[in-house]
Amino acid sequence: MRHVIGIDLGGTKTAGGIVDGGGNVVFSSSAATPAQSGAAAVLENTAALVRSLQGEALRRSLRVDALGIGSAGVIDSGRGVVVSATDAIRGWAGTALTAELSALTGLPAAALNDVHAHALGESWLGAGAGVPSVLFIGMGTGVGGGYVLDGECIEGASFTAGHVGHFASPFAYEAGEPLACSCGGSGHVEAVASGPAIHALYRRLGGESAADTRGVYRLAADGDPAASEALRRGAAAAGSAIGGLANILDPAVVVVGGGLAFAGPLWWDEMESHTRRELLPPLAALRIVPAQLGTTAAIRGAARRALNLLPAIEGTHV
Ligand SMILES: [Zn+2]
Repeated sequence: MRHVIGIDLGGTKTAGGIVDGGGNVVFSSSAATPAQSGAAAVLENTAALVRSLQGEALRRSLRVDALGIGSAGVIDSGRGVVVSATDAIRGWAGTALTAELSALTGLPAAALNDVHAHALGESWLGAGAGVPSVLFIGMGTGVGGGYVLDGECIEGASFTAGHVGHFASPFAYEAGEPLACSCGGSGHVEAVASGPAIHALYRRLGGESAADTRGVYRLAADGDPAASEALRRGAAAAGSAIGGLANILDPAVVVVGGGLAFAGPLWWDEMESHTRRELLPPLAALRIVPAQLGTTAAIRGAARRALNLLPAIEGTHV
């Protein structure tokens, strides 16, 4: 059976796996991303991880034919280039991701955005398997997503499709003023619904003891008023956004992943009730389910794109 390598390249960690044609992760490994050392260091770090996975494949007598990379940033998957990126990875914008990694590893490569890879993985083998349309929403440090139709993630004309954290939310206002968003805009979903936004709101409401979003959740579970209000508002904003998107896209299933999706029922139930409040009547039975593949989703989604390269590669040898 043919194998490929799938990589999930984030600002903190780079994870990779040897994946077979059925999407099974045969072996996986990860390394810290040297995000502040610049693009060349991040590329070399990724190539080192790929080479170690190639070595492992060799030990197992497996042939690895291609490489797929799901990367932070807006990725032009046609050219394999990072179109734009936040400073989570210094100097990442403009990087010729597939050309550079092919040169460093000797493998043909495909690249796409990491959240798109995550959506693709969940729709291929996870909570969205077996249906023609999947809306994936990732709720964590950031808010992102992807819409997968007939097995392909919709990337958009400029590859920014799925930026579900960056549209107007009625919950992202305080005293009539929009909250600042990480994208440079304001009044967006992410400004109130992300993990850091929930923690920041808790602080603005006078909370002092929780050091992070996890802490806010624990205090909310104990009935702390500031923590409860911050969590409730974040979850309501998430639900309102998800419901509106479901009305627009009419997916067969909504898959919710990211840290907040697994924080517990306080967040999930509030999110789901606000989603359902938003839905048009024909969508009343819409399934809203948690993601299933955890950290392997993006590895598998990236691997899926690498597998797509194989017929073309074989074609060149005919
Ligand atoms: Zn924004």
